[in-house]
Amino acid sequence: MFRLSRFIRELSEPSLVRPYRDLPGPVVIWNLVRRCNLACRHCYSTSTDKDFTGELTTWEAMHALRDLKAAGVPALILSGGEPLLRPDLFELAAEARRLGFASVSLSTNGTLIDDDTAHRIAAARFSYVGISVDGIGAVHDGFRGKDGAFADSMAGIRRCRESGLKVGLRFTMTRDNAHHLPEVLELMRAEAIDKFYFSHLNYAGRGNRNRAEDAHAAMTRAAMDRLFEAAMASPEAEFVTGNNDADGPYFLGWVASRWPDKAAHIAAKLAEWGGNASGINVANIDNLGWVHPDTMWWHERLGNVRERPFAQIWADTANPLMAGLKARPRALTGRCGECRHLVLCNGNSRVRAEKAGGDRWGEDPACYLTDEEIQ
Ligand code: SF4
Repeated sequence: MFRLSRFIRELSEPSLVRPYRDLPGPVVIWNLVRRCNLACRHCYSTSTDKDFTGELTTWEAMHALRDLKAAGVPALILSGGEPLLRPDLFELAAEARRLGFASVSLSTNGTLIDDDTAHRIAAARFSYVGISVDGIGAVHDGFRGKDGAFADSMAGIRRCRESGLKVGLRFTMTRDNAHHLPEVLELMRAEAIDKFYFSHLNYAGRGNRNRAEDAHAAMTRAAMDRLFEAAMASPEAEFVTGNNDADGPYFLGWVASRWPDKAAHIAAKLAEWGGNASGINVANIDNLGWVHPDTMWWHERLGNVRERPFAQIWADTANPLMAGLKARPRALTGRCGECRHLVLCNGNSRVRAEKAGGDRWGEDPACYLTDEEIQ
C-alpha cells in the first residue's frame, strides 16, 4: 500500500529518513467468510451468496487470533466475502480488541449496515471501516451486480459516520469506471469522508477473467495525476493506493517535475517505505485458514493456521515463493530486473507477472512507467 498523503506531507514537513526495515509481523487481511450478498465483477475471492463448507469455526478463529498476536501482527483487516455475514464477527472483533491489536479494520460492501449494525461496529471499536464504491449510481450497481447497491452502500457509509466511525471509500479502477473517478473524489469531498483507497485492478479470481478491463497506462497516469492533486487539495483526508507499487516511483517523477529540490528526500522516503510488501509486511488468511503472501495469491497455499502456528508458516522460506518474495532485492528479470526504481517499488505485483507472463519473477505487465522513466 502506498500512503500518498504521508508522502505529500513530506513535501512541507520532511521527516527523518530511516533505513528500510521489515515489521516484526505482517498486517493480516483475513477473509473470514466467503459468502457475499453481492457478486462483484472484480472479486478476487469469487464469492457468491451461499455458505462455503470447511470455514474456520469460532473456536478455530479465536485460536488463530491468539496465534497472530503471538506472531507480532500489529493490525488486522477483517474482510470476506461480506464479513458482516459471519455470525461471530463481533465476538471475534471483541477478542481481537482484548488481545490488544493496534488496529482492527472492517472491509465491507456496506449494503448490510443498518442503524443497529452501525452501532454494533462502533461498539466493537473497529478502527476503520472501508466501503467499496466503484462509481456513481448505475455504474456501481453494474459492477456490484445489484440494482440499488450504490444507495445501500452510501446509506451504510453515512450510518457509520453518524456512529462516530472512521470511514473510507475504496475505488477499484477499470476501463469501465475510470471516467467516474472525478465524481467519486467529489463524493468523498462532499460527504467529508476520512479516507480514499484507490485500488488498481489486479489479476486474480474474477479479476483474472476480466483482464481486458484493466486500465491502460495512459488512463492510469491520468488517474494518478488527479489523485495527487486531490490529495494536495485535501490535506485533512487520507489518500492511499494499492495493487500497483509503481505508484511510488511515478509520484517521485511527479514531484521531480514540480519541485526538483524535494525529489531526493522523497526518493529516500520511498526507499524507507520499500515498495511491494507481499510475503513480508502484508499477509492474507482465507476463509479455510490457508495463509497466502497476499490476497491475490489464493492459488498458493503456504500452510494452514489449523495445523501450524502462523509465525512458523510466515517465517518458512523453504517455500521458494516466500524465499523469493522476502529476498531484498528480489531477483527479477525483464523491465523490473533492470529498473532503477527497484529499491523503491520492489518489483510490484509478482502474481500479475505470473498470470500475464507465466513467470512470477518476470516483469509486472501493469507497470505504467515508460522505459525512459525506469532507465
Ligand atoms: S519496472 Fe518493475 S520495478 Fe520498475 S517501477 Fe515498474 S513495476 Fe516497479
